[in-house]
Amino acid sequence: MSSTIVVTGGAGFIGSHTAQVLLGRGESVAVIDEVNDYYDVRVKRENIAELVKLGARFYEGDLCDRAFVEGVWEAENNPQRVVHMAARAGVRPSIEDPVVYVKSNVEATTVLLDIAKEKGSQSFVFASSSSVYGGSKKTVFGEHDVVDFPVSPYAATKKACELVAHTYHHLYGMNIAALRFFTVFGPRGRPDMAPLKFVDKISRGVPIQQYGDGSSSRDYTYIDDIVDGVLRSLDRPMGFQVYNLGNGKPTRLKDFIKLVEKEVGKPAIIELLPDQPGDVPRTCADISKAQALLDYNPKTPFADGIKKLVAWYNEHHHNKAAAAADDDDDDDDDDVS
Ligand code: NAD
Repeated sequence: MSSTIVVTGGAGFIGSHTAQVLLGRGESVAVIDEVNDYYDVRVKRENIAELVKLGARFYEGDLCDRAFVEGVWEAENNPQRVVHMAARAGVRPSIEDPVVYVKSNVEATTVLLDIAKEKGSQSFVFASSSSVYGGSKKTVFGEHDVVDFPVSPYAATKKACELVAHTYHHLYGMNIAALRFFTVFGPRGRPDMAPLKFVDKISRGVPIQQYGDGSSSRDYTYIDDIVDGVLRSLDRPMGFQVYNLGNGKPTRLKDFIKLVEKEVGKPAIIELLPDQPGDVPRTCADISKAQALLDYNPKTPFADGIKKLVAWYNEHHHNKAAAAADDDDDDDDDDVS
């Protein structure tokens, strides 16, 4: 059997999907997650229980705890591949609590890189974010378009992780891919993000909050396409690379709401609020680099993805996280996360 792949953040949305697909292709998978309460921990515990059923080993703890992470490497016989999805996500909460973001994102990533380097990692891929393009005036973002001044602490931590990762490539020749995800959605999605929140609230006739005039747009990317890109980058280590993993086709907030109304079969009750600090007006990925080097080609149009999300939601309409997120009505629009 090939060596173990470590998936961090495996209790969360993207990490749990990634681990599931890796297990499906017969890989040995070790999941690390601290199971924090950024959102309902029951959702995370369910994700972990599913993965363990499928054969994953689960290690609960904080990536900033070096001895704990070294223990995982020892127990797993020195894994050579890492998919690092753990982080504090979310733009607006990072403005409230920047210190926890720096710790969970920058410090944790550095500990992990350092251990992976010591143990001879062959391929290390990690989640960056489209938020690094925050202050850009461009309408379509290419990997070289990064502005030097991020517009939220979250974006700053993701950019900082990229910078630290680059030094590990430069100094030690590590193969590292930084994956800039563009607003990911789908079944088991994050309850603090607009897609699941809107589906839940519109289904239950609860008001949604729309920030701005609805003309802001996001390049929503379906979870299966993101996981496909993650695995392609893991399987093709090429020195240090930054890839946009998006859909390349942005959707305006007001069109997004209309689509959810149509799929759910109910009108949205909309509360209009002003734009929020740290929000960006538009995200759109130039995915030509990932297409050329990874053969990454997102296959799920936004409308199809929303259909799948609604179908999943209807099966899990008792979803406790979405219900819990309902009480927290401060971030219902299109945080890039
Ligand atoms: P998520 O919150 O569902 O999952 C992240 C997981 O990491 C959580 O289960 C959390 O408990 C864990 N974690 C956080 N800090 C940790 C630490 N110090 N030690 C151990 N575990 C820790 O988030 P997600 O949406 O699945 O995002 C996965 C990654 O993708 C994150 O790095 C996020 O910043 C990035 N990202 C997500 C999106 C998106 O649209 N969802 C967009 C861009 C980037």
